[in-house]
Amino acid sequence: MEDIISAYILSTRKQYKSGDLSSMYSKLFKYIDLSLKKLNVECIYTTSFSKHRACENIEFNGKNCLVYDQYLGQTFNMFNRILLEDKPTDAIFSYAHKLMGEYFNRYNYIREAAACGVLYSETRKALLSDGYVDDKRRRYTFIQEFFVMAHEAYHMILRESEDIRAEGMYNIDVYANRRRERTSILSQIPREEWNSLHTDEYREKWLTDEELEKEARDYDQDSQNEVEERINNLLENDENLREELCCDYYAASMVINICHFVFKIDICEILEAIYIATYHLRSLRILEIGCSNYIENGKLGNSNVDSKNPNQFIVESEETLSLIIRSQAMLQRALDLFDFYLGENSIIKTLMPTNSDRDVDKVKFHDDLMSSQQLHYKTIHDTVEQVIGNGLYNGMLEKEIVRREQNQVEFKRFLSSLSELESATNIGLSALAVDNFFGAAALEEQKLKFYNFN
Ligand SMILES: [Zn+2]
Repeated sequence: MEDIISAYILSTRKQYKSGDLSSMYSKLFKYIDLSLKKLNVECIYTTSFSKHRACENIEFNGKNCLVYDQYLGQTFNMFNRILLEDKPTDAIFSYAHKLMGEYFNRYNYIREAAACGVLYSETRKALLSDGYVDDKRRRYTFIQEFFVMAHEAYHMILRESEDIRAEGMYNIDVYANRRRERTSILSQIPREEWNSLHTDEYREKWLTDEELEKEARDYDQDSQNEVEERINNLLENDENLREELCCDYYAASMVINICHFVFKIDICEILEAIYIATYHLRSLRILEIGCSNYIENGKLGNSNVDSKNPNQFIVESEETLSLIIRSQAMLQRALDLFDFYLGENSIIKTLMPTNSDRDVDKVKFHDDLMSSQQLHYKTIHDTVEQVIGNGLYNGMLEKEIVRREQNQVEFKRFLSSLSELESATNIGLSALAVDNFFGAAALEEQKLKFYNFN
């Protein structure tokens, strides 16, 4: 069995040497495995270190295997650094070109890869850390890596257990109904009547006064009704998307249980890190969609160009709508979990260590999540969309390539940038740092506590 898995990894990616992170990851795998074993799900775990930035669950001959690529963790770590150090947009401009360059390189789009590579190497100074080692960043990365592993584990669990699948799908239906109710109000009520909604049930369920006003102000019924309708339909009918949401939902609970009760991380911070992970994944996916559209169509937007807005294509595709749903659903999940663990009548509160965040209020928590989301837009997501929109959709990258090809010196730099892209280890070994931070003993020492609780 292990032979088949190594053959799979060898044939799907080029491996790089990494620091020895296996001990750190095998600890996380152990936690995941305990949950799987309870349901009699057998799984083999392995890591790779390549440009194949993914966590996958694969089935070979009826056996499950979880393959985690450590480069995903490095990427999260860089995003977290950009986010938490509130870096200028130059930083993500640079990093987005590295990621695009790697993608183009993988598909042998050498001119594009080189152009992205040289733009990255010319601007990468912006990515340098200011030297401050931030524990919060380490925790974020740790939680996010764990979350994507748990998410994959739940794909396996859903394959095996009808009951768990049914319960998960029921939760998605509840969410879908709530969302439909909300959008039907947003889409039908005349704007002049918004003020009277302030005392309405709607507000209590969904929004603070300020948010309601903002949402009502911003909601353009003509253009948004259609998008909202498509989102609701996807949420109700797209089985793949519904399974993704189920896995997100369950994974968030698993991560909170282990990270809070074993590692003593603040619940609000765990939920925030997971919520932000959905935005990281969304930005990564948008870069990939942009590059793969470019590869397929020669340039972007052929199928849906109808806009002066270079980002329009991003809103248009079903896949990006799914990404939007996942981050919105995760917000709802975070608020639900908050209620479960920290809400008024939570029994779980009594199990918490006394120094934990028992008494945070929900409005503050919600506001904090919203500010992290806005910070993500400002420091990461908007720039990623612009890089794709201007670089690929509006043809700026091609202009850059032509300009540099005409100049010999520039052309040499071009080629050397490719080897720079090849070096996978140049952004540091995040997981190793995390391992040092938590210490090997912490896991063993706290293990029992969690399982008693569970
Ligand atoms: Zn998935």
